[in-house]
Amino acid sequence: MNAKAESTRGYSRRDVLKLSGAMAAWGAVGGIELGSGTAAAAFTKNQRDNWTPDEILAAMKKGNERFRQGKLAPQDFLAQQRATAGAQYPDAVLLSCIDSRAPAEIILDLGIGDIFNCRVAGAVDNPDILGSIEYGCKVAGAKVVLVMGHTNCGAVKGAIDGEELGNLTGLLAKIKPAIAATTYVGDRTTKNPAFVNAVCRRNVELVVDGIPKRSPVLAEMAAAHTIRIAGALYHLDTGTVEFL
Ligand SMILES: [Zn+2]
Repeated sequence: MNAKAESTRGYSRRDVLKLSGAMAAWGAVGGIELGSGTAAAAFTKNQRDNWTPDEILAAMKKGNERFRQGKLAPQDFLAQQRATAGAQYPDAVLLSCIDSRAPAEIILDLGIGDIFNCRVAGAVDNPDILGSIEYGCKVAGAKVVLVMGHTNCGAVKGAIDGEELGNLTGLLAKIKPAIAATTYVGDRTTKNPAFVNAVCRRNVELVVDGIPKRSPVLAEMAAAHTIRIAGALYHLDTGTVEFL
C-alpha cells in the first residue's frame, strides 16, 4: 500500500475503515479514490456520524503525531474544496487562540471541511463563540468541542501583566480567573515561563468547565454523551498537542 492510499482526509486509513464498515463502499463515497492513490476528499455525513467523540480525539492525536514526525497525510485541497462546496460535515469544533504559531488544521493534520474553528486570543468563550459552538454541534452535528490553548500565550501573559488596551482589556479580564486559580509556588510573573504555562493550562481547564455552565444546549448534549468537551495544550517548543 503506498503512502497516499494509507491515509485519507488526515486520518489513518485504518481508522476510516473501522468506521466506514465495508471495504467495498470505498469506491462510492465522498469522492474518495483510494484505489488510484489519490488523496481523499471529504467524508460523507454518514461517515462522520459513525465516529464516536473518543475516536475523533484519537484521530486528532494521530494527526499531531504525523505533524511532529514531518509525515503529514497527503492533502488534496482542491478535491476537498470541490467535495465540500455543497455541504460540510465537520466532526469537531475547535476553540483555539489566534496565535500565528498554533494553526489547528496544520498541527493536527486536518483538511478542508474537517473542523469548525473558532479562534480568539486566549481561546476564551463569549456568547458569540458559544453560539458558534452550539451551531457546530447541535445544528451541524459535530461531536467534539476541543478547547486548545498553547504555551507562551501572549494573551495569558497580557492578563498576568494587567495590560489594558481598548477592547483587549475586556478580553484579558476573561483570562484573569485562571491566574487566581493557578496554584504555583514561586515567581508568579511573566518572567517565569513555568508559571505562564501553568496559567495557560488552567485557562483551558476553566473554559472547558465553563462551556456547559454557560451553554445549556451544550450541557445537555454532553450529559447525553452526544458530544465531548475536551481540552488540549499545544506546546510551541515541541509541536506536541497535549490532550488534557
Ligand atoms: Zn495565544
